[in-house]
Amino acid sequence: MSAVSELVALRPPRRGLPRSDRAVLRGFSRAELRAWVGTALGAPAFRGDQLFEWLHGQRASSADAMTNLSRADREALARLADFERLSVELCATAADGTRKLRLRGALGAVFESVLIPNPGRGYTQCISSMVGCSLTCRFCATATLGFERNLATWEIVDQVYQAQDLLQREAEATGAKWPARITNLVFMGMGEPLHNYGQVKRAIELLSDPKGAGIAKRRITVSSSGLVPAIERFGREGLAEDIGLAISLNATTDATRDEIMPINTRWNIATLLDAIRELPPSRRRRVTFEYVLLADVNDTDDDATRLVALVSEFDCHVNAIPFNPHPGTPLRRPSPERIGRFVARCRAGGLSVHIRTPRGDDIGAACGQLALEAKT
Ligand code: SAH
Repeated sequence: MSAVSELVALRPPRRGLPRSDRAVLRGFSRAELRAWVGTALGAPAFRGDQLFEWLHGQRASSADAMTNLSRADREALARLADFERLSVELCATAADGTRKLRLRGALGAVFESVLIPNPGRGYTQCISSMVGCSLTCRFCATATLGFERNLATWEIVDQVYQAQDLLQREAEATGAKWPARITNLVFMGMGEPLHNYGQVKRAIELLSDPKGAGIAKRRITVSSSGLVPAIERFGREGLAEDIGLAISLNATTDATRDEIMPINTRWNIATLLDAIRELPPSRRRRVTFEYVLLADVNDTDDDATRLVALVSEFDCHVNAIPFNPHPGTPLRRPSPERIGRFVARCRAGGLSVHIRTPRGDDIGAACGQLALEAKT
């Protein structure tokens, strides 16, 4: 037997397409699934709806589980489709109950997602849209990683499904009747969601479907550093109607914002506020301005006065986020007195301000700390 035929003989029997050619169905919209079952399986469109429930409601990881499909359809699915899930590399729980999930996606990409207990019940999940980040904000740990790549739709939605699996296992372990629910989603993890607009939009459609995770659109917020063309698109395509928009303003003068958020040199504060002014009025959602408080950088009385002048025309809410330190940064969190004084001045000027207390900072899960310690 020649060496070549020996190699051929040793190769395992081929079961369907190579992985890279299979359809990654967890990233398909409902309409695309309905069409795909027609062309790939010769099945009626309602099979696509059944598949949707398996993928997004049951979070199935193989065709074998899909018992309401015929054996032939399941075999065809196993050959043609990819049901890959993320793998959980680490799950850390903070003293305040916040959990950080470190997840591995396609091609070894590692990124993080955070589950934050709500004051009432259920959880808010903070999800990532990129591996690393395309921006270079000075105060953010993720920026130190650089940009690796955008997450695919399936990798965005599976962050939620992994968290649901975790809560399900916990309910089983404690004998609770129902698992705790994820009620709110915020795109405030790693990455700039509006730089990955298409996949984020698809993921929102999937996650808000009542047959999937069923998270109401009005409980989903996208946070952006201020990508003006994408904000305009967000308004034009109707997302602003239901989805919350949070803008990381973080400074009150262009000089300071240029320094700490270099994206400001492309779209400055006036241009950014113009884009927000032009959004179609939403009946449900107010815009949120995030403001990371950095000692001696953007926390003066004058900053508070300017912040009031800049945003009070909007039906808005200000989220003041005391800076969360991370290794290697020279930036500091202002003293509690300074933070109190800044916020009091904003409130006296008529703004609605909430101080976001750091959650999960003991496990590196607070705002701006997601950076995979292994690499830092
Ligand atoms: N790229 C998006 C979303 C990710 S950052 C954006 O810029 O909005 C989510 C929020 O965390 C932003 O408001 C950002 O300003 C804030 N943030 C980043 N690093 C931080 C840090 N070290 N401490 C406190 N907040 C931080």
